[in-house]
Amino acid sequence: MSLFGLINKDVSYENESREGIVTLRILYIILALVLLFDIFFAGIQSIVNSKYVIIGAFALIVVLFLLTYRMKTRPATITYIVFMSLLIPGLIPCFGWNGGMQDFFLIILMLIFLANLGSNSFKFALAGIVFAARSVVIVVYGTMPSAVYIDDLSNKHIHVANNAAVFLSVIAISYIFSHRENEAESKLMKYNDKLVKEANTDQLTGLHNRRRALELLDEIKNSSYLGAVTIVMGDIDFFKKVNDTYGHDVGDEVLKSIANTMREVCGARSFLTRWGGEEFLMIFIGKNGDEALTDVEALRRRIMDNAIVVDGNSISITMTFGLAEYDFSGDVAGTIKEADDKLYMGKEAGRNRVVY
Ligand code: GH3
Ligand code: MG
Ligand code: MG
Repeated sequence: MSLFGLINKDVSYENESREGIVTLRILYIILALVLLFDIFFAGIQSIVNSKYVIIGAFALIVVLFLLTYRMKTRPATITYIVFMSLLIPGLIPCFGWNGGMQDFFLIILMLIFLANLGSNSFKFALAGIVFAARSVVIVVYGTMPSAVYIDDLSNKHIHVANNAAVFLSVIAISYIFSHRENEAESKLMKYNDKLVKEANTDQLTGLHNRRRALELLDEIKNSSYLGAVTIVMGDIDFFKKVNDTYGHDVGDEVLKSIANTMREVCGARSFLTRWGGEEFLMIFIGKNGDEALTDVEALRRRIMDNAIVVDGNSISITMTFGLAEYDFSGDVAGTIKEADDKLYMGKEAGRNRVVY
């Protein structure tokens, strides 16, 4: 497995996101590398003089790194914070105050606020402890020389290496956590869009549902639009017979096919709704009754002339429509009722027609 694969390997707890643990692995690797640099520049004698701290540090880095494959994110993060809080004061005497080891406290601070460690008061309490620890370290170690003699140039190398480690760690934390936030946000937005769409759509036909149609009519009424609006109520003739003859599933296929035909013939010019059962409400915005009548007539003919084939059965369908113009004076519900009444008149008069 590659190093990337090793770092990126998932946590064992599937309800946890991977980012927190991956960050810790990166931080441990950066820490191990910078320690190697520090020792290289401080000279081999530094290991001899500070063997317990250095060997202990490496042993713990390996153990804690491996534990990230077993631990949950929160305890693993707290473990890193505790480990670093002890390691920093341990390492300053090895490489001296001028090595810049104390800046690692900033990494701890970032993790406290960006990793999901718990309540805000817990985070602020931890930050307070880190501040106190760094203050103590300043007071106690403020001018401490290194345990072995390190010449000026090597000392600068060590300082630069530690500085690079702090920068890389901060970059890793910032990048990974901001990335996670963005990803979570866009996931949430997509999910939200999906929910809105589902709430507005009829599952079977994919047309708008009654809820959305009423919302749109409300929007039109409350807008400053005063152009033509025509409402059409359509109902499949003798649909019960289709169900009785071929079964409910075939009936569903017929409904889908009718919806597709409506989309093909009037989709671009009207707002199509499955009002309920085998009833469809169409809203023509910008078309008066006569103009909408032309479209609805075309639709009625198209449905009448093209039998729907389902499972080898050729099913002839007709529809009856009632058409009413909305004049903005009264309630939209009144216009829907008018369209519905005309539909009923059409049924009474023998079906398969548009009543205006
Ligand atoms: P009319 O010409 O007077 O409209 O006669 P009709 O048989 O179409 O009217 P009726 O209201 O008596 O029957 C409507 C039928 O539509 C009854 C119901 O079982 C069926 N129906 C309603 N919703 C669905 C659906 O989602 N799927 C299927 N397959 N049938 C449905
Ligand atoms: Mg019917
Ligand atoms: Mg009906």
